[in-house]
Amino acid sequence: MNYEKRKVLITVKTYPLPSKSYQELVCTAGVLENGDWIRLYPIDYRYQPYCQWYKKYQWIELEVVKHPNDPRKESFRPKVDTIQPLARLDTKRNWAERRKYVLAKGTHTMEELWKKQEADKTSLGIVRPKYVQDFRIEPVEPDWKPQWKTVFQQQRLFGPDQKPLEKIPFKFSYVFTCDNPECQGHTMMIEDWELGQLYRQMRDKFSDPNIAAQKVRQKYYDEMCDSGKDTHFFVGTLFQHPTSWIVLGVFWPKKR
Ligand SMILES: [Zn+2]
Repeated sequence: MNYEKRKVLITVKTYPLPSKSYQELVCTAGVLENGDWIRLYPIDYRYQPYCQWYKKYQWIELEVVKHPNDPRKESFRPKVDTIQPLARLDTKRNWAERRKYVLAKGTHTMEELWKKQEADKTSLGIVRPKYVQDFRIEPVEPDWKPQWKTVFQQQRLFGPDQKPLEKIPFKFSYVFTCDNPECQGHTMMIEDWELGQLYRQMRDKFSDPNIAAQKVRQKYYDEMCDSGKDTHFFVGTLFQHPTSWIVLGVFWPKKR
């Protein structure tokens, strides 16, 4: 396989989902210097904890090859031991440096992304909602299914010294419309790594899952979707469910 060197600005890290085949435990994605999207997987977490690899909006350089088993346009397999962490872009001048790369290819509506997906297997993008109507919090099964527990034990996913992956007992979704006359509205689940982390911090602080969920809402809805913010959603598809799109993260500089 011919690996090629790429420089990637990481913009998306999702909360890990169990996977039997290791195909997609998380989605780590970002943009190249020209603004094209790229997804990197799998990343082998047994090297070290995922969150320590690199931060969002950090450049990394690494060798990648087009993923052989994933038809999605942006999916590449990284050679993990070639990852070189580089500079991280700050939020100065209202996220100017981040905007330069993240928005280099403009934004799309969900309807446009569906069409692109049909045309060339596009599976990542950035959407600028016209209006975010709601942030939904729904309780879900608090424990992993027994079959996943077995998989975790077999894979020793996070190494023998680390806690097993914790399941978040809520599903969080945005309800929004795009700036498109064809738009009939969307309800899309959020799978942002930082949302999971925020939930766990708040749950530990307040010892109450419901208060923790409300704190997540305060951050992800009241703050990030405030009318003074130019809110964008990073969106993408799941390997196992290629037709369902989810929100992978939020890009929220101030409105100009
Ligand atoms: Zn739409």
